[in-house]
Amino acid sequence: MTYKKPESTAECVYFSNRDVGEGSAMIWVFKQECPECHKAKMGKPVDAKTGKVKIRAKEYVCPECGYTVEKQEYEAGLTAYCEYTCPECKSEGEAEAPFKMKTIDGVKTIRFNCKSCGANIDITKKMKKKKQKKK
Ligand SMILES: [Zn+2]
Ligand SMILES: [Zn+2]
Repeated sequence: MTYKKPESTAECVYFSNRDVGEGSAMIWVFKQECPECHKAKMGKPVDAKTGKVKIRAKEYVCPECGYTVEKQEYEAGLTAYCEYTCPECKSEGEAEAPFKMKTIDGVKTIRFNCKSCGANIDITKKMKKKKQKKK
């Protein structure tokens, strides 16, 4: 089975390409279709003035009908897909997992497992450089 891959990151709620130990993984999460009108994919709201997506928004909005879902609720129903080269056995494969960051060793992580050897393939949330807060 081969997962459908996104043609662009615009189709995704989440997309990441990275090294995992001595392997690597590409992870993606498709945007969900609007459950109300089924005409469009729900995405983060777009700022009407700048035309830019409001990345920090706490909700997802349907661009067609305006249906709004809270971020947590929306993301809880999504599936994360992963195409990997296993860091342990170096086999290539695909895996899926609920798009839910679990805290593992104090870091927000989505855990996939290698289908050949069962090794953990952990995708940790990228740490953003903290901005110095001005007091
Ligand atoms: Zn809609
Ligand atoms: Zn493996």
